[in-house]
Amino acid sequence: MNLVLIGAPGSGKGTLANALSKKFNLVHISTGDLLRDEINNQTKLGVIAKELIKKGDFVSDDLIIKMVENRLREKTGNGFILDGFPRTINQFNIMDKSIKIDKAIYLDVDQNTIIERLSSRLICPICKTVYSSKKYYKDYCENCGTKLQIREDDNIDSIQSRLTIFENQTKPIVDCFRKQNKLLVLEGDISPEETLRKVEKALNEVKN
Ligand code: ADP
Repeated sequence: MNLVLIGAPGSGKGTLANALSKKFNLVHISTGDLLRDEINNQTKLGVIAKELIKKGDFVSDDLIIKMVENRLREKTGNGFILDGFPRTINQFNIMDKSIKIDKAIYLDVDQNTIIERLSSRLICPICKTVYSSKKYYKDYCENCGTKLQIREDDNIDSIQSRLTIFENQTKPIVDCFRKQNKLLVLEGDISPEETLRKVEKALNEVKN
């Protein structure tokens, strides 16, 4: 089973992808995480991506598509979850020609909730677990003990810019999946547990 997750930054794609990947034995492919690994490893792509990401701009479609294709050449078990790709109509069209997708899940969360979440977000750079500084008061990751970080692009200017880019460039792909009858929309600000329960129910219907 191959899934796509769509949602504004901070809509909960990463958290849902982690839970779904464990439940259905799927590989979680986050283009944001892959890019941050490239930055940490100071690769050619990482150097290009660093400044763009800090400002909240997109990395070029060509570079992203190459990166995703490379990742998909590795083993993907029972299937995969694409988180952060496709993010433009052009990326959607290229994906549509070569990658089979069973279902796209759109997390529709309002902007105020998103701004609040992103301005208190902490991440583990190693296992990628996400925390909120409003609910988690330690400096170290509970899973692997690594010191938590604030993402460089989780500042208010970059958050605003990412939200605008999401509305203009990414949201149109929701309709592309709707036309293909592959769309599952989860509205509003529900808990991660409730989100997972709803998605599981819909996916079990896909499998049967
Ligand atoms: P968020 O969803 O919180 O904005 P991600 O971790 O998914 O963040 O991605 C971080 C940044 O990486 C994006 O703001 C963008 O600059 C870049 N990026 C990730 N995926 C893509 C993509 N498919 N196309 C272009 N840029 C991307």
